[in-house]
Order: sequence, then C-alpha cells, then structure tokens
Amino acid sequence: MSKVAVVTGGTRGIGEAISLALKEMGFTVAANYAGNDAKAQAFSDKTGIASFKWDVGDHQACLDGCAQVAEALGPIDVVVNNAGITRDGVLAKMSFDDWNEVMRINLGGCFNMAKATFGGMRERGWGRFVNIGSINGQAGQYGQVNYAAAKSGIHGFTKALAQEGAKYGVTVNAIAPGYIDTDMVAAVPQAVLEKIVAKIPVGRLGHADEIARGVAFFCSEEAGFVTGSTLSINGGQHMY
Ligand code: NDP
Repeated sequence: MSKVAVVTGGTRGIGEAISLALKEMGFTVAANYAGNDAKAQAFSDKTGIASFKWDVGDHQACLDGCAQVAEALGPIDVVVNNAGITRDGVLAKMSFDDWNEVMRINLGGCFNMAKATFGGMRERGWGRFVNIGSINGQAGQYGQVNYAAAKSGIHGFTKALAQEGAKYGVTVNAIAPGYIDTDMVAAVPQAVLEKIVAKIPVGRLGHADEIARGVAFFCSEEAGFVTGSTLSINGGQHMY
C-alpha cells in the first residue's frame, strides 16, 4: 500500500504543485483547502487527487480532518504544512485580528497538524514533515510583522520537532521560498513587484514546481538523514 501524504492548501498555487509532485512519487495524496470549493473540485477532477476541506487554524477541525483522511486513505505518513495567508499592513495600521489570524493559520496550523499526525508516524517508525516558511520569515519584510513572525516561528518549530522525531524515523524540514508566481504574489501591486524582481539575482519570480521539487526531496526515502534543515529556494535573493 502506498504511503499517504496530506498537503495543506494543496489545491492551488504552490500546494497544487506539491500535491502533483508527491502523487508522481507514488504517494496517495490528500489535498486540504479552506473554502474555495470550485477550485478544489476542478483540481480533484483534473488530477484524481482527493480534496478535503477544513481550516488548519482550527485545532479540532484539524484532528477531525486528519481522522477523515486516515479513514478514507489510510494512516498519514507525510504532512506538508503549506497553507498560509497574508494580512499585510504597517504596525500602526495592523489590527489585532490581522495579527492573530496570520499566527492562527500560518503557525497554529503547523501545531494542529502535528498534533493530529506526529504520534502515529512515531509509532509506525517513519514520517515526513515539510513546513513552508518564507524568505520574509528569514529576513523580515516591511508591512508584515504578523507574517514574518509566523514564518520565522515555522523555522523554530521545525528544528524543535525535528529533535523529537529523529529517533523515530520522522524527519522535519522546512523550505523558505522566495517570491513565487502564485495568486498570493499576484495580489502585490505591480510597481512593488517590479522592485522585488529587481532584487532577485536570477532575475525572475520562482515557479511553484521549483518549490515542489524541494518538498519531494525532503519526502523521499533517500532524505532520511536530513532533518531540522531549511532549504532556501529564492533565486539568490537572500543568502546566508
Ligand atoms: P495561495 O494563496 O496561492 O494558496 C493558499 C492555499 O492555502 C489555498 O489552497 C488555500 O485554500 C489554502 N488555505 C488558506 N488558508 C487556509 C486555512 N485556514 N486552512 C486550510 N487551507 C488554507 O498561496 P501560495 O501558493 O502562494 O503559498 C503557499 C505557501 O507558501 C503559503 O504558506 C505562503 O505563505 C508560502 N509562501 C509563498 C510565497 C509566494 O511567493 N507565493 C513566498 C514564500 C512563502 P483555498 O483555495 O480554499 O482558499
């Protein structure tokens, strides 16, 4: 029986590319999403990958959603914490709700998904977590104290959980994407985007597939000695 992978926010953007890459590797994939039913249905019809709707920021919804996936497809062996949102604004204009919602979904979602699945992976002696951070969690970004804090938190979360999983065959790694041409980046004003691209040494935005290839590596059998690691895929925009 093939291993089961859950990709949060797996029906569009970077998540869609990750779902497809993991399917190609032979995983049975469950693609989670939040509310865009039409896109999820079109994605499932096109790819044959089952989609499951729940809010990763809701603890109980994650427990229930993962139980539903396990019931339908089998025990969960791989979790890709990809779901994320932005609620940008300078601190003076950022509401507590903007702060809280980004922390709840982007960082809280990782905790909720781990609570739902880590124990089972440990018991079975094999598992893979890949958490999608961000260049803006590494370097900070004007107007994004909420997003940068949540993404930076993901990198700490990854290193801490990696230590808990290491003896049990469960690896935990992160990817820090630079600017990738998805709906999230399409929301950035054109003039701002041009300034961003000018700072990318490779001279262009990244493609979702380029992030998916990194995720596929971390999920492979061959990556069993790689844990607590962050792979930056950003066209050279931030090197350290
Ligand atoms: P998109 O906005 O294109 O897609 C976001 C996905 O997450 C959608 O499938 C959406 O579901 C889902 N989602 C949002 N909120 C929730 C929630 N509460 N519960 C479950 N699913 C949710 O994002 P990208 O593909 O651009 O980004 C994917 C990840 O990569 C994010 O974590 C983002 O922060 C990160 N990233 C992106 C970069 C970029 O340049 N694009 C750069 C660095 C990091 P639905 O379709 O139902 O709305």
